[in-house]
Amino acid sequence: MDQPGRTPPPRRRRDRLVEDSRHDPYRAPGKPSEDAVCRGCGLGVRSGRWQRCSTPWAPRETLCPACQRTQGPYPAGFLCLRGDFLRGHREEITSLIRHVEAREEAEHPLQRVIGIDEGDDGVLLVTTTGSHLARTLAQAVQRAYGGSLELRYAEGENLVRAVWER
Ligand SMILES: [Zn+2]
Repeated sequence: MDQPGRTPPPRRRRDRLVEDSRHDPYRAPGKPSEDAVCRGCGLGVRSGRWQRCSTPWAPRETLCPACQRTQGPYPAGFLCLRGDFLRGHREEITSLIRHVEAREEAEHPLQRVIGIDEGDDGVLLVTTTGSHLARTLAQAVQRAYGGSLELRYAEGENLVRAVWER
């Protein structure tokens, strides 16, 4: 949002995702067998389950699936927001998205917003580490502001693309 001129348009990001998706580290088979701590965000994995931990219990460092998606970047969810109404309510809608993100992350620590980028044409593209969060954000925006919402799920992949327009 800070430098709209330098943000690639949504289309290009999607194309890159398609190319990279077969190397997606998130889809590495199996869960971590050893307890470890994420060096990106400090989440811990114990018995294969990622959770918040106040004190690190395992010396081994790794990168949790959400940080892998953030650093890839390999988003699992894309929410595109557009339309004249959006242009007049950008701040409000962005803060709703941040609010819903914080609420969801409290329960699902691997569900996070990777970025909210503004395209040249005033379109906002929200990318997320989990498809669940993209869908939840899209539905929250529609519930609050009306408009039209299209949700598409990539076949055979845990990917969501949502387009909201008003
Ligand atoms: Zn992490």
